[in-house]
Amino acid sequence: MNRETIAELDRQDPLAHLRDKFELPADTLYFDGNSLGALPKAAQLAARKSVEEEWGTDLIASWNKHRWIDLPQSIGDKIAPLLGAARGQVIVADSISVNLFKLLSYALDLNAPRSTILSQRDNFPTDLYIAQGLEHLLGQQRCTLTCVESPELEAALSEDVAVLMLTHVNFRTGSIHDMSRLTRRAHDKGVLVIWDLAHSAGALPLELDTCEVDFALGCGYKYLNGGPGAPAFMYVAKRHHQRASQPLTGWMGHADPFAFTEEYAQGRGMNQFLCGTPPVVSMRALDAALDTFDGIDMEEVRKKSIRLTELFLQFKAEHAELESLRLVSPINPEIRGSQLAFSHPEGHAICKALIARKVIPDFRAPDIIRFGFTPLYMRYADVARCVDTLAMIVREGIYTAPEYQTFEKVT
Ligand SMILES: *Cc1c(COP(=O)(O)O)cnc(C)c1O
Repeated sequence: MNRETIAELDRQDPLAHLRDKFELPADTLYFDGNSLGALPKAAQLAARKSVEEEWGTDLIASWNKHRWIDLPQSIGDKIAPLLGAARGQVIVADSISVNLFKLLSYALDLNAPRSTILSQRDNFPTDLYIAQGLEHLLGQQRCTLTCVESPELEAALSEDVAVLMLTHVNFRTGSIHDMSRLTRRAHDKGVLVIWDLAHSAGALPLELDTCEVDFALGCGYKYLNGGPGAPAFMYVAKRHHQRASQPLTGWMGHADPFAFTEEYAQGRGMNQFLCGTPPVVSMRALDAALDTFDGIDMEEVRKKSIRLTELFLQFKAEHAELESLRLVSPINPEIRGSQLAFSHPEGHAICKALIARKVIPDFRAPDIIRFGFTPLYMRYADVARCVDTLAMIVREGIYTAPEYQTFEKVT
């Protein structure tokens, strides 16, 4: 494909105007928005305002005056349409790890005496670690984690399974599970389902209510662009509200936190899933970041995402030297999230060489270079330049230089 055709794709892009809403370094090609979303200008402004005008001026009165206290619910209601969820079922708090602990406990409580958590072997580690921690805390009588390979999941759904815990888009390969089908199959066996949407929310159209999903959760800092360490979200279907309990019974989840009573009394609706005080500055940034999605059709976002990844693969195929990078993402774009993963024995060094040239993907052990595609701010021309740089690094063996052989703490 020639330069003119690529420029035309960018000119015709109905989402092109959104790039302006982000603060992006001019000389950088950012392919890691799936790990840390870029900075929306509105989020920068909102975070500054919350520090200077709210905290700095109105001090503690801000909890009421600026409705800090309602942010977990109001931001939850902003995220809900992106998930295909009606209001009152999404709340923002803590991290995925902490929220998963709450949701797994709740689901086990709801589906007692069943005790098995069924998951998949290459699920995101924190999801498996949290389940292992719960197993240790409750004892194997009350909680046992069983992991199988992805194709064996349906056969492993039995009457012993309390909850199926899956990540919708695999963090390494980008492979997408059929949410509707797996949820239905699980329900046929009386199994509840928790979907981790870390790599789905803000990247794909989702239909949690239509799929009759029980529980879901996801990050604020990936495709939602809420900033480093932004709080996470949790979804609990209305039919499950007030039917069980979760163990992190902090005061923000109390029915009346400011009554300061000695006994815990479960809050209404999604409130019972809160624990402690919300991180207001982070919440403000996430709240403003979500406005970027106002009026955006997620089908359009998905269409562009597929075009970007298909274009990448097309350019890659034009470079014989890139044959050594093996695609580990599904070749079929319909079952592939907004990322491409390639394995290469020198994947880590290639990744570092790219970053040194201001092309930023990330590396996932043991040997995967992962490129994230963010339709809100990525241009088709970025994809062309990225593949050109990658081909140059591989062709000229630039990655063999000693400075690319060392590992940082975060990859
Ligand atoms: C990024 C990610 C997480 C992160 O969890 P935190 O507790 O928010 O750090 C969890 N699960 C998946 C699938 C992820 O991709």
